[in-house]
Amino acid sequence: MDYQAYILPHIWNLKPYSSARDEFKGNEGIFLDANENPIGSGNQIAAWNRYPDPLQHQIKSQLAEIKNCQENQIFLGNGSDEAIDLLMRMTCASDKHNIILCPPTYGMYEVSASINNIAIQRVNLTAEYQLDVPAIQAAINEHTRLLFICSPNNPTGNKINRKDIYTLLESFKTGFVIIDEAYIDFSDEPSFIYELAKYPQLIVMQTLSKAYGLASLRLGMAYANPIIISLLNKIKPPYNIGGATQQIVSKALEDKQFIKEAIALIQSEKKRLIAEFENIPQVHHIQPSQANFLLVKLQDAQALFEYLIREKVITRNRSSVPLCEDTIRITIGLAAENTILVEKIKSFYL
Ligand SMILES: *Cc1c(COP(=O)(O)O)cnc(C)c1O
Repeated sequence: MDYQAYILPHIWNLKPYSSARDEFKGNEGIFLDANENPIGSGNQIAAWNRYPDPLQHQIKSQLAEIKNCQENQIFLGNGSDEAIDLLMRMTCASDKHNIILCPPTYGMYEVSASINNIAIQRVNLTAEYQLDVPAIQAAINEHTRLLFICSPNNPTGNKINRKDIYTLLESFKTGFVIIDEAYIDFSDEPSFIYELAKYPQLIVMQTLSKAYGLASLRLGMAYANPIIISLLNKIKPPYNIGGATQQIVSKALEDKQFIKEAIALIQSEKKRLIAEFENIPQVHHIQPSQANFLLVKLQDAQALFEYLIREKVITRNRSSVPLCEDTIRITIGLAAENTILVEKIKSFYL
């Protein structure tokens, strides 16, 4: 892929911010270059007075091992949202290029495109919540720079047929295909990270906000060809991942047992919730889920949603989303929370 042809020229040619520490790699020394406070940080359990590693080497080396990829294939953002925004600003001019979204899907793609004033082409999923491949292919034009595919998809929870993704990867080579795998850890599908070598236009996004239990720390990953990664690194704010986040994430990534057990617990609770919902006649459809939530089609969705809020059970009403009429999206909670949810739904329909 001739990357330069698909990256905005001012980004390709950008001279990034450089800090004095770029030229000095050691940890020991007298650091008088960055106008930091040399004394410490006040009433803190640790000292945070020094700027963090701008390229987050420690976390990337751990992720490279976990994901079986190279460190230079990993970009870390302040949540996936930062990666989404940077990818748009890197590839799309607001008066010229467009992106393709496949609703119903994650809302941030549209918000981020709108903030950047980038034209959006919407190609709805089919009734089975799968990609409408011919319609996507028809929508692609010479100015299409990004195609977003979310698998497992939010808010529907299903995985996207792998064969369709390959078809698009084979046919769309004049822009980037972004596969958002925020829920991949709950899925039986292998990640598309393992296809990066084969498809130079492929970008895979993941996050620590879901299965890894670190939503508050804000850490999202983009995996791609090292050329794309170095462009992202060039345009990101230099210290986009704080030092506290880097330290805590590094510790959390060591605890592989926690993540395994958390996923297993969520999966078994998901099964139990499905069984409970199947016994409620007003529940019309439970969308098969490869994620940590269920999209449920039920009677009086709007009224139920409001009732649940009054009962202090917060779900997500998706009824106004295309192809999701009369649905609410329910995140799998703790066993006790799920039990209360089911009780409340039953009492609403009584
Ligand atoms: C939750 C979610 C994300 C994660 O966003 P962060 O900014 O990393 O918290 C990304 N994509 C999808 C589809 C999601 O549902």
